[in-house]
Amino acid sequence: MQRVSDFRIRKCNDAAVNRHGRYVLYWMIANRRTQWNFSLQRAVEWTLELRKPLLVLEALRCGYQWASDRLHTFVMEGMRDNAEDFSRTPALYYPYLEPEQGAGKGLLKALAQDACCVITDDYPCFFLPRMAASAARQVPVLLEAVDSNVIVPMRWSEKSYLNAFGFRRFLQSNLEPHLYAFPERNPADAIETARMEELPPGITDRWPPAHRWLAQIGRRSLAEFPIDHTVGPSRVIGGSAAASERLGSFLDSSLNHYAELRNHPDADCTSGLSPYLHFGHISVHQIFTELMEREDWSVKKLSTNASGKRSGWWGVGENADGFLEELITWREVGYNMCSRRSDYDQYESLPDWARKTLKDHESDPRSYRYDLEQLETAETHDELWNAAQTQLVQEGILHTYLRMLWGKKILEWSPSPRIALERMIELNNKYALDGRDPNSYSGIFWVLGRYDRPWGPERPILGKVRYMSSDSARRKLKLTRYLQKYAP
Ligand SMILES: Cc1cc2nc3c(=O)[nH]c(=O)nc-3n(C[C@H](O)[C@H](O)[C@H](O)COP(=O)(O)OP(=O)(O)OC[C@H]3O[C@@H](n4cnc5c(N)ncnc54)[C@H](O)[C@@H]3O)c2cc1C
Repeated sequence: MQRVSDFRIRKCNDAAVNRHGRYVLYWMIANRRTQWNFSLQRAVEWTLELRKPLLVLEALRCGYQWASDRLHTFVMEGMRDNAEDFSRTPALYYPYLEPEQGAGKGLLKALAQDACCVITDDYPCFFLPRMAASAARQVPVLLEAVDSNVIVPMRWSEKSYLNAFGFRRFLQSNLEPHLYAFPERNPADAIETARMEELPPGITDRWPPAHRWLAQIGRRSLAEFPIDHTVGPSRVIGGSAAASERLGSFLDSSLNHYAELRNHPDADCTSGLSPYLHFGHISVHQIFTELMEREDWSVKKLSTNASGKRSGWWGVGENADGFLEELITWREVGYNMCSRRSDYDQYESLPDWARKTLKDHESDPRSYRYDLEQLETAETHDELWNAAQTQLVQEGILHTYLRMLWGKKILEWSPSPRIALERMIELNNKYALDGRDPNSYSGIFWVLGRYDRPWGPERPILGKVRYMSSDSARRKLKLTRYLQKYAP
């Protein structure tokens, strides 16, 4: 087994490893999967060094912002897969669902008392960095956070990038060594110690494992949790098995049309993998490996010319090239931003030119103004926008192209850009399965000018920030079936 690179491992406290502990504890909070997972691999490394068994705790709190039936269902479906996958390995898997706010408090600390060390996932946004920092102060042993989010480790670059061109140039000169250092497909297979028989009863009496709930995921059992029941489960099923199936069907059928049809809602030919990537049910390394195997690609095909140019540098066909631009350049620049800047979700993080032009136009008259409730319930004059919002509310997903238009119109119809930002964050993170992610902040802030440049002609409200129109979207895009479905 290859060692996990030091660039992926962040020591969160100064506590020592307790060599007399009973087990190595992997606290799974973001990479919610058994495969292609550097955190799990790092935990397995420790089990080999210390000759101790592995205990995996996957917990789900109920008191975080936007917790709902939709998000709980998706995560629980993932836990069900993990329970099955870990049952075939020597690791003991302990899923825990917090039945009421604060009930899970103390669980990690209690488990850490008997642990040699604790390994967790290094995720750079939402409440997770705060939660990991607080845990680091409480556990009596070494806590390490491991970055399994991206192909080029977040800590490889020392600065944040302001546009895709600059980040692409960085990738083009830095990517290659990381393509030889992927995580193991099944890290838990390398464990040499026997499985722990069971958890201490003192722990399970107070924090019962979630198997009962995982056996009957549904609205009835969710009713027991103090979460938002108005946001119902999505038709998209969570978990690593569904993610791998989705990847296979995308590569088999939709990828061949990706460059031509990606923007057309009726074609529905993007991968649909963002919810799985967000909850860690699938790894970017798995997607990359399966894609490139089909492309019959080897690292030798990668261009060494770091020009920052968008297409052609991977040495693959135009469909795979377009997909990699999204999966690697655009996805990883978001992780770069969130890991490098604590103000990634603040209005002030926008480039100076964008803040200036939006301020210049803040008091421009608006032809249409809606409040949050009208937006949420899709009651605007714009049929296409209402359809996009309806898809988001009903299904927890929003078509890629329409997502940009959706944001631009919220900017146009809100009393100020700051209020528009709050509304986009609220609606996106409340309803989207893939919300609360580095990509959420990339997309939402892109609407306001991040990663973009000034555009002419200068317009009311948006100023020099790029403008998009529903009329031109209706002319350009294949939308008939989409509108029939979401705006009947
Ligand atoms: C206002 C707005 C809000 C957004 N909110 C989110 C969000 O909450 N979560 C989220 O994952 N994406 C968000 N995006 C980015 C993008 O729209 C989605 O990633 C994409 O629609 C997901 O669909 P897919 O998985 O089928 O993408 P595919 O086209 O199949 O792309 C594969 C993967 O590449 C990444 N990707 C694709 N497009 C982008 C992009 N523009 N920026 C960054 N990464 C990208 C995603 O991880 C995606 O799963 C937002 C964009 C905008 C304009």
